[in-house]
Amino acid sequence: MMLAVLASFAQEESRSMSENNKWSIKKKFERGEVMINTTCFCGYDKNEYGDLVVNRKEAEIVRLLFDLYLMNIGCSRLSDLLNYFGVKTMTGSEWEGGTIGGMLSNEKYKGDFHLQKYYTPPMRRNVTRRNRGEVQSYYISENHEPIVSPELWGQVQEMREYRKKERNIGQDGTKKFQNRYPLSGKLICPFCGKTLRRRQVYNKKIQWLCSAYIKKGKKACRGIRIDDAALVGLNITEQTVVEEVVQNGK
Ligand SMILES: [Zn+2]
Repeated sequence: MMLAVLASFAQEESRSMSENNKWSIKKKFERGEVMINTTCFCGYDKNEYGDLVVNRKEAEIVRLLFDLYLMNIGCSRLSDLLNYFGVKTMTGSEWEGGTIGGMLSNEKYKGDFHLQKYYTPPMRRNVTRRNRGEVQSYYISENHEPIVSPELWGQVQEMREYRKKERNIGQDGTKKFQNRYPLSGKLICPFCGKTLRRRQVYNKKIQWLCSAYIKKGKKACRGIRIDDAALVGLNITEQTVVEEVVQNGK
């Protein structure tokens, strides 16, 4: 039933899209590939029609995270807490702050559904970008049963904004991170999804390395490095996943 509704919705809303795009999105709806991976999506299961169904046990974790965050407990402390109590992620690993940050800003927990939140630019098959209007996206309100109320969800977004500002302003009221580089936070490791960090290596050479690899070594990520010089002139303004290519046998 939901799939039929979604498919007709797609037909209605996509008149401006090319026929080709329309067809492929419609096919996606029909196959039930609604671009969420519920295997790593805490709080919901998918039923045989592809609808999101609340998983009561996991939903408790989600609610707890939203509630505690409003008590000003940040994402990395929340991940420490879950790990301390032996709660595993959907993939059976330890929690990380970034995962929780992603959950707290995920509109699906208030029952909405943003399709095409991310997209792959044409001819760049290994790059995923946040969709800021480059391709058509769909925002469906009240698509499925919420786990948190829209009010609570909204409060958490305000808290996130507040904490972000607070983090960036030092105790003396001046801005921290003034020396951050334009590429800071923009380059993403293709193996673990963490950001790359700028490092000075031998001969004063500058490289960007996977931050998980820097912090926890090979057990966290096989690591990727890229010369700062190789990035000059690329004009990277969005989060971009770095791709590993073989060049001269290296
Ligand atoms: Zn990595």
